[in-house]
Amino acid sequence: MNNYDCIVVGGGPAGLSAALVLARARREVLVVDGNRPRNRATYMSHGFITRDGTPPMALRELGREDLAKYPNVHFQWGEVQHVTGVDGAFTASIKGVRGGPSGEVQARKVLLATGVLEALPQVPDLISYYGSTIFSCVHCDGWERREQSLVVIGENPELVNTAKRASQWADREIVLTNGSGIIEEHQAEVLGRQGIEVDDTPIAALHGDGGRLESVELADGRVLPATGGFVQPEWSLPQVVADLVPTAGDLGGVKTDEYGRSGVDGVYAAGDVRGITPSQLIIAAGEGARAGIGLNNDLIFATFDAPGR
Ligand SMILES: Cc1cc2nc3c(=O)[nH]c(=O)nc-3n(C[C@H](O)[C@H](O)[C@H](O)COP(=O)(O)OP(=O)(O)OC[C@H]3O[C@@H](n4cnc5c(N)ncnc54)[C@H](O)[C@@H]3O)c2cc1C
Repeated sequence: MNNYDCIVVGGGPAGLSAALVLARARREVLVVDGNRPRNRATYMSHGFITRDGTPPMALRELGREDLAKYPNVHFQWGEVQHVTGVDGAFTASIKGVRGGPSGEVQARKVLLATGVLEALPQVPDLISYYGSTIFSCVHCDGWERREQSLVVIGENPELVNTAKRASQWADREIVLTNGSGIIEEHQAEVLGRQGIEVDDTPIAALHGDGGRLESVELADGRVLPATGGFVQPEWSLPQVVADLVPTAGDLGGVKTDEYGRSGVDGVYAAGDVRGITPSQLIIAAGEGARAGIGLNNDLIFATFDAPGR
């Protein structure tokens, strides 16, 4: 069975960046990626300095090209299904995807960079517009929606904050709770003072062409013109993360110290999996670098602290 210093679970910006730091620290690293990032819904990613406007999958490809220069880093397409063991001796079982091999590997450390799973509100055909004219992150995609008539759709308590944030870009804004009534009366008043309407009517249909939103039809027959908007999804953690760091689900993500240590010895986390706000590619990459440094430092210092040294 192959034995690595670290297995990095997830090959997005967090995982690739951590792997680059570890590569340059002369560590034997395996990156395993299931190729299912949240942002695969969109065509362009924004706000990553030097890479503004790059397609999400191209950004990852560039990251993998950087890693390919280091013979001590190995990349594999696969889903890590379980991780067992303790600090210094973990075993990960991998199910290959995209032709990648299945099997077990051993690693001294585990770095979780899985991102999160995302569920959109139950609105007919919303998925056809998601990533084209409806997005979840205002700081990522607000610029392209500036000075437009926007809808903000959601069914959970964070909706009110997304609605406030979207106002920085919207010319006209309507908040649609899709029948959930999640915006309380006093919150609706606060939004109303800034000219933002709240409507609790369920959404019957989205109308548009090729992902370009033109209007929203409500269950009572009204049709609201809108050229785009934002949605408040629900996020959850992949099972492998919940199994390895049992408190993560309750806390809304894996809570770590500033070097990515999860509180479970030998397990580190970086990127969206640490909790979603603010979630950006460059933040995930930065967190990956910090966790890589923390992990490498722990390996170095452990050799000095070992009994008999
Ligand atoms: C529609 C949309 C548009 C966005 N646009 C932007 C933008 O323009 N600019 C910006 O900065 N941010 C944007 N974001 C946010 C950005 O995508 C995330 O913040 C960023 O990708 C997080 O990086 P990450 O490495 O933590 O996770 P991800 O990029 O999600 O990568 C995690 C990887 O881990 C893999 N994985 C999960 N579980 C396992 C497992 N068990 N085994 C192996 N692999 C696993 C997944 O398949 C995935 O490839 C957008 C998000 C969405 C949804």
